[in-house]
Amino acid sequence: LLQLTGIRKSFGDHEVLAGIDLDVSAHEVVALVGASGSGKSTLLRCINLLERIDDGRIVLDGEDISDPRVDADRVRARIGVVFQQYNLFPHLRVIDNVTLAARYVHGFSKADATAKGLELLERIGLGRKAHEYPDRLSGGQQQRVAIVRSLVTDPALLLLDEITSALDPELVGEVLDLVGSLRAQGTTILMATHEMAFAREIADRVVFLDAGEIIEAAAPEAFFDHPQHERTQRFLARLR
Ligand code: ATP
Ligand code: MG
Repeated sequence: LLQLTGIRKSFGDHEVLAGIDLDVSAHEVVALVGASGSGKSTLLRCINLLERIDDGRIVLDGEDISDPRVDADRVRARIGVVFQQYNLFPHLRVIDNVTLAARYVHGFSKADATAKGLELLERIGLGRKAHEYPDRLSGGQQQRVAIVRSLVTDPALLLLDEITSALDPELVGEVLDLVGSLRAQGTTILMATHEMAFAREIADRVVFLDAGEIIEAAAPEAFFDHPQHERTQRFLARLR
């Protein structure tokens, strides 16, 4: 579904992505792990065209989306993104937060976006909150609303960047449960996470990034129990 080839990105003379090759298959869940500053967020931002890559190619569903002539808004309708900071608009009701981009950026009618948004909110047990303002919801509920917002356009690919790191520990579970149910529905997910237990449980593949390079990629059991590369071993040892 997604093919990354030779992705390079520098900020000034700091090379943050040093040639990333990665394929993500349809229905696959890939966890990106690595130390702070290793380039995980930058890679996700490049895929979503929030950052322009210096070199390489990003192919989504057969289309080269790294071509500068590509319409970024059209591509973003096919790529859902959720960040650590869920950034709901405080002055908009939940349903309006959920449907805003679909309606005003991606050209959905109000009726279609609202029907889809309500269906998704219902499905995660937040249907009753649709007409509340975000400050009436817990952090976990707000993050689940942000996930729903990313799904209104039926994206082919979901990018999740540390979606639980701003949450109180007791709220992490409900957000991870939602990701688990998306996985069960066959959603293709590429997620940066510091939650190793979660990566182990949910990912089909764990990819370890260090200084902008993929050092090792393997199924979770192999990755966590028998890391091959010395840098992976050091990274995992520091977490224990
Ligand atoms: P974390 O685990 O802390 O979220 P990360 O792996 O997501 O880290 P990135 O946010 O991708 O790391 O950052 C990688 C490097 O790129 C860091 O050294 C960061 O300072 C640098 N960087 C990221 N965005 C910019 C920017 N807009 N301008 C300059 N440098 C940047
Ligand atoms: Mg990050």
